Amino acid sequence: MQRVIPLTESIYPESFASAYGAQNPDHARRYPLVGELVKQPHQDVGLAIVALRPYQRGELVGNFMGEIRQDITQHSLQIEEGQHLLDPHFIGYLAHSCNPNLVLDMHGRRAFCIRDIAPGDALSMDYASTEDTLFHQFACHCGSPNCRLWVTGRNQMVNEEGQVYLRNHRLLQEHHHSANGAAAMVHGHGVVHQPPGA
Ligand SMILES: [Zn+2]
Repeated sequence: MQRVIPLTESIYPESFASAYGAQNPDHARRYPLVGELVKQPHQDVGLAIVALRPYQRGELVGNFMGEIRQDITQHSLQIEEGQHLLDPHFIGYLAHSCNPNLVLDMHGRRAFCIRDIAPGDALSMDYASTEDTLFHQFACHCGSPNCRLWVTGRNQMVNEEGQVYLRNHRLLQEHHHSANGAAAMVHGHGVVHQPPGA
């Protein structure tokens, strides 16, 4: 049995929960707790949701909620075409990674851990896993071997800025290869980004 969490222990403020949480009255609530997650600046990604305790692969990190809107905003995530969930307390501030540690079930409003998470890690998702169209496309520095370098929505072409970015990145790589015999690109930590303006 899942414990039903009193909202006072949840990272969602009472006002937010009473406004939007009532949408699923029978939903067994398991909102992330104060003391489990915190929204704070993280390395160079801007504000991120950072784990305060470890999570294991497969674990339910928490249910989420938010305001359902028709328009895309900076921190909304798509439920389906024309439906976007705005949650400024939890999933709206997940970082993007091409090799994320969370996956979201947007219909069930659940966030699952898909890679072990240590305290201090920023929670991340792949934005293209939910978004047909991104509010802004952006360069990714997540450092994963499978990093796409430029992130778009799943139904989007790389825009003009992205094409220039990818071309320059390729030229830089070639330059490194010819200058050093091997690429000397230094990649950071597993997680990157926050959309611009966050
Ligand atoms: Zn990446």
